[in-house]
Amino acid sequence: MTNIPQPIQPPERILMGPGPSQISPRVLAAHSAPTVGHLDPCFLQVMDEMQAMLRRVFCTENELTLAISGTGSSGMETCVVNLIEPGNKMVVCKNGVFGMRMADVAERVGADVLTIEKGFGEVFSTDEVADAIVKHQPKVVGIVHAETSTGVWQPLEEISQAVHDAGSLLLVDCVTSLGGVPVEVDAWQLDAVYSGTQKCLSCPPGLAPVTFSPRAVEAIDNRKSKVQSWYFDMTMVRNYWGGDRAYHHTAPINMNYALHEALRVVLEEGLEERFARHMLNHQALKAGLAALGIEYAVAEGQQLPMLNAVRIPENVDDASVRSQLLREFGIEIGAGLGPMKGRTWRIGLMGDTSRAKYVLLFLAALEKCLASQGAKLQPGASVAAANEIYAD
Ligand SMILES: *Cc1c(COP(=O)(O)O)cnc(C)c1O
Repeated sequence: MTNIPQPIQPPERILMGPGPSQISPRVLAAHSAPTVGHLDPCFLQVMDEMQAMLRRVFCTENELTLAISGTGSSGMETCVVNLIEPGNKMVVCKNGVFGMRMADVAERVGADVLTIEKGFGEVFSTDEVADAIVKHQPKVVGIVHAETSTGVWQPLEEISQAVHDAGSLLLVDCVTSLGGVPVEVDAWQLDAVYSGTQKCLSCPPGLAPVTFSPRAVEAIDNRKSKVQSWYFDMTMVRNYWGGDRAYHHTAPINMNYALHEALRVVLEEGLEERFARHMLNHQALKAGLAALGIEYAVAEGQQLPMLNAVRIPENVDDASVRSQLLREFGIEIGAGLGPMKGRTWRIGLMGDTSRAKYVLLFLAALEKCLASQGAKLQPGASVAAANEIYAD
């Protein structure tokens, strides 16, 4: 037949970029189970179980916890559009691409957006955020927990205290952190939190877990105007996930199967064990990179274990190394974004990708790519250094 493309035959990659991450065969198998109707008793049970598992992963008892139909960015839109009415003040903490995106979303929703900024690769101190809150008295403060564009790990607990002292609500981007490092929604009193499926939950992209505190729900219930987005209006979406199961939109059935299985995988492993695994593989990667003379772009103590932003060595061509890694080894890593473009690589060890087998393969492969660029290295040094961490 002419003009009909061949069936899709995706190559087998090793996804070590900023997401998506490696997906386990269990999750892919769940995704291909038979599609049922969105009000089928079987699917309603899937939804109930998923809400219960999401609460465990978010460490929350929040009733309003569910998966929005859309990628991580749809979780961002959902949180912002439900809490903000036109003219409301929102302080957005901008230290990377996703803080910038949050400010853009808030502006489009009609918020009076006030940003505070830090350089790419830096965290906000509590004082910096507290000063802005005292000055502006915002309804909502938005911040990114794990800035995937820079590899920075933002502490939240003290900032949350400052936000609540001022009577504001805290909205947090946990797209990359959830399932990789602790996200304690109740203990840290986070009010509106969103995540995505394709980072440390190791599920294909397509859903955005969200959770709203009772304080946030009250703010939604006290709105004077309708939520500006029909699709992401929690006052309607919550009736489909609970209550009278009123039809809102057709849930992406098979994506929900996949997330159900991915959450089962997370809970079977255990959250603490999963966080420890992410930390160990990060340490091993870091030791291996150090043996190649490669440094982190983020200060010690602020580095995310699942997103390693490192400086590209002098005299090494960014694009050639990344394309050689892909061509010869099937390994994808991420390029730098914004001001870090061409100066950093972003090496993801998210969810299923956070394994010794991938760390060791990557280090050996990177050594070969650097050697093709003329670097003088001690052969095998990086793999040996990583193995020392695993041996301890
Ligand atoms: C990936 C990511 C997003 C956006 O998620 P998409 O699934 O790409 O829409 C938002 N915030 C952070 C921190 C991310 O890493």
